[in-house]
Parts: sequence; C-alpha cells; structure tokens
Amino acid sequence: CGIVGYIGSRDAWPIVLKGLKRLEYRGYDSAGIAVMDSFSQKIYKKAGKVNVLEDFAKELDCSGNVGMGHTRWATHGHPSDRNSHPHTSNSGNLSIIHNGIIENYATLKEELLNRGHQFASETDTEVLIHLIEEIQSIEGTDLLESIRLALNEVVGAYAIVVMDKNQPDRLYVARKGSPLVIGVGNGEHFVASDATPIIEYTKNVIYLNDNEIAVINKDELLIKRLDNVIQTPTIQELNMKL
Ligand code: GLU
Repeated sequence: CGIVGYIGSRDAWPIVLKGLKRLEYRGYDSAGIAVMDSFSQKIYKKAGKVNVLEDFAKELDCSGNVGMGHTRWATHGHPSDRNSHPHTSNSGNLSIIHNGIIENYATLKEELLNRGHQFASETDTEVLIHLIEEIQSIEGTDLLESIRLALNEVVGAYAIVVMDKNQPDRLYVARKGSPLVIGVGNGEHFVASDATPIIEYTKNVIYLNDNEIAVINKDELLIKRLDNVIQTPTIQELNMKL
C-alpha cells in the first residue's frame, strides 16, 4: 500500500502514476488517483494493478497541477472500484486517500448516518473524510483545524492526504503510525510513503512525525501537531541512489 502526492507547476498525473509504480513493491489490490486544477477535480480508481488504472484513464481528462494517488491494501471492505481510494465527503468537495486503519470507524459512522450522511463505500477511510466535513460545518472551522479536530477523535493508524475542490492550491497531509515523506523541490512539493517516488525530483525531504499535519502549497508549507503547536520543519538530504 502506498501514497503519492504532487503540487507544483507540472502535470500531476504522470508524476503520481509513476510514483505509484515505484511503490508497487509494498503490495496492494487497487489503485486510484485524484487530480485537480482551479476548474475541476477528477477522481479515477480501479480494483487491480496500477496498469489497469492507467489504461482506464488513457482517453480521459487527467489534467491538473495537483494530484494524489493511492494503492490500497484492503482492511475494511473487499477490493472493488467502489472501495478504492480516493473517497469523497458528503458534499463531494473534500477527498481523501489513506493508508492504515481507523479503529473506531463504526461508532463514528453511526453518528454520521444519524446526521444524514450517505456513504458510497464500506471503508473506514470514507468515514474520516465525512467526519472532517461534519466538523467543518458544525464548528465553522477552516480545513486545517477541522482535520486536526477530526484526527483527535480518531483511534488508529494513518497516513492521509486530503484535497479540497475549493482550495486547488494546497494539499493537507497527516500521519500517525504510517510513514509519510515530503519532498521539497523548487516551486513544487512531493508526498510519498517512502522516498523512492521522490528521489528523482529532489534530494531534500522532510520526514513527517507522528501526530503532525502539514498544509502544503507549491512553494511553502506549515506543520502543526495534533495538539495545535506549530512545528519548525527539518529538511534532510537524501543520499540514496535510484
Ligand atoms: N483501511 C483502509 C481501507 O481498507 C486503507 C487500507 C490501506 O492501508 O491501503 O480502505
């Protein structure tokens, strides 16, 4: 299972697709990618190998300078197109990819169902993005704060990337118990489960720590801890060969 993200001035799709192929060695049963620009967001996802997704999207519009991709190792919900990531919120504005397990998803899902949410999959992941949106609408908080509040309610392990249709210039990422690396390029950022998809573009990386959330633009980023303390990022240099 793996995560890849890109934000910058290049086309995100080919970078994310190639990154997912580099992470194939980790094992998975489904793959999906979301790309966006200021006009639209596209989500394509398929059970099976990354090649299946690539063929499926061949004739489709994959444009956008922001993207996130996922390979899934199913834990909640059988492998299928519908259960593949990315998953979207009730309004469809927010989308998420996730590696890990949300242990208390059943309780959270029941509450959300009572509040009128409708779910399209059997995954624990979809519950998290609905929870984030519910908090946003109840508390009136911005997305970073809504993600922080939601993650404080979650029991489990995760590496996540969140996209907002209404904020096409940023990606939100967070981790606890699952790895996540941010690549710092020149006017662009990369995100991945490990450095293998990043190394050909930049050697400068930030290893996100457990309990940290980052908001990433193409040329800046902010890291906060789940307890709301802002962190100073430490950029490390990779000395790894392809
Ligand atoms: N628990 C999530 C699911 O089953 C994510 C699994 C993964 O790590 O790929 O969809």
